[in-house]
Amino acid sequence: MKNLQMVDLKGQYLPIQDEIDTLIRDCIDSTQFINGPQVRSFENHLSEFLGVKHVIGCANGTDALQIAIMAANLPKGSEIIVPDFTFIATAEVVSLLGYIPVFADVDYNHFNISPKSIESAVSAKTSAILPVHLFGQSCNMELIVKIAEKYNLKIIEDNAQAIGASFLWANGDKQKLGTIGDIGCTSFFPSKNLGAYGDGGAIFTNNDELAHKIRILCNHGMETRYYHDEIGVNSRLDSIQACVLEVKLKYLPSYNQARYDAASLYKQMLKDVDEIVLPEESKYSDHVYHQFTLKITNGQRDQLKTYLDEQGIPSGVYYPVPLHKQKAFAKNPSRTSDCKHSIQLSKEVISLPMHTELNEEMIRFITGKIIDFFQK
Ligand SMILES: *Cc1c(COP(=O)(O)O)cnc(C)c1O
Repeated sequence: MKNLQMVDLKGQYLPIQDEIDTLIRDCIDSTQFINGPQVRSFENHLSEFLGVKHVIGCANGTDALQIAIMAANLPKGSEIIVPDFTFIATAEVVSLLGYIPVFADVDYNHFNISPKSIESAVSAKTSAILPVHLFGQSCNMELIVKIAEKYNLKIIEDNAQAIGASFLWANGDKQKLGTIGDIGCTSFFPSKNLGAYGDGGAIFTNNDELAHKIRILCNHGMETRYYHDEIGVNSRLDSIQACVLEVKLKYLPSYNQARYDAASLYKQMLKDVDEIVLPEESKYSDHVYHQFTLKITNGQRDQLKTYLDEQGIPSGVYYPVPLHKQKAFAKNPSRTSDCKHSIQLSKEVISLPMHTELNEEMIRFITGKIIDFFQK
């Protein structure tokens, strides 16, 4: 089968081409490329969608995390607890700003930071927790919020991979991810669930004072032109990207549903393969399947990857090296608790194509080849 892709951005674009092209053309006509009205309009729509008071666009998800940490005003050199199993950006910005990343283990079942591991990593120097809602579903926010309250820690959510998903509180309330902590962050990298046609990111908060500070930090620490109150950065969501996101936000629930349906079909097709542990959905979260990630338990993950490559089926290993084993953190101060699940996952995980245009024929083909591999 030709044309299998991890993510099919062209296929997703075609049905909305007219809408997107019109907005982009209008934006070019207006020449308001920076801070155009499109940016505010998208921020307002996203804040409505998420049920959060403030959405502040910025240049990418990594900047969103950096600016969130800058705004949180944490004690210099303090420790920030991050999952050991995530994309580097989460911990990179912690070190970049002179804080100390403390790597906590994740739960084997859900890939997300383990509340137990967070609590055992807390020290007198801990100032914040940075949970990542990995692969499309929520961390256990009920427990994480309790730990944060007990030790007086800030929560900054990295919601680059689960936009649109909600956390289900024990009392039955639902709350969109990224709006639970003090500050939430997301990325609009093209392959994310809500992806732009270039880089983009956003920061969320319900706190007026933090929102004000975040807006200023994004724009050179400047409120009044050429008067600088903080050392800030230049990090803006540009108007053309806001046009793309404005259109795609309307379709986000249907995009996330399409991913969910694809995941359900994958699971049905692969349920009888003993060597595979399928992704498990937690009771307290929706799943928007940013990734569809298998665990291969017989030690043949790398062989399977090579086999899929040969069959023209793309796949990805997210992530092959736990953060505490990355060279970058050997050269910079960090602290690690026992991360045995993270180590095990880095050897077992493989992610299959996952996007809004996956159809039954593709999934049957992909899963058929995987079944063949294990029957050989
Ligand atoms: C993609 C991603 C980021 C960074 O986003 P960029 O827009 O690429 O800077 C941060 N954290 C996680 C978990 C991500 O998946």
